[in-house]
Amino acid sequence: MGKNLVSFRAPCPVCGQTVTACRQESLRRDRVAVPWFAPYEVLIHEVVAGKTHDPHSDRKRIHWACDACIDAGRALLADQSKQEFNDCWPYYVYTDDTIHCKDCGCDFVFAKDEQKHWYEKLHFWVQSRPIYCKPCKQRRKAAGQKPSEPK
Ligand SMILES: [Zn+2]
Ligand SMILES: [Zn+2]
Repeated sequence: MGKNLVSFRAPCPVCGQTVTACRQESLRRDRVAVPWFAPYEVLIHEVVAGKTHDPHSDRKRIHWACDACIDAGRALLADQSKQEFNDCWPYYVYTDDTIHCKDCGCDFVFAKDEQKHWYEKLHFWVQSRPIYCKPCKQRRKAAGQKPSEPK
């Protein structure tokens, strides 16, 4: 694809620091477990094309982070081989995400280690996300409403 592929630089979605994208651990070719889906060149292109870095606007954005963010624990390295995905990008890293509860309207954190558990242990589709905060979830459960997650 691009002739300058190896030197492609992109802002880290987590810290904003511009880094050489293809040298980052989260995007390394040998970590891409699904070449039929995400050839490295396409992946890097998508990253550099800057799909969007707004964490709430585009589910198809690539979740990655620079090495410094992974080392500092701001991002948790993901394992795509354990994820279930089809028409959207797998996670290359997990980062804490803030979600608006559909019931009470509060903001709650969908933590990165919780995401890893959802997508790699419970094997929920990677596009599924919690819609209720924990208290609301417990209240609904206690009230006998069927759990509606994941969607
Ligand atoms: Zn970073
Ligand atoms: Zn709530």
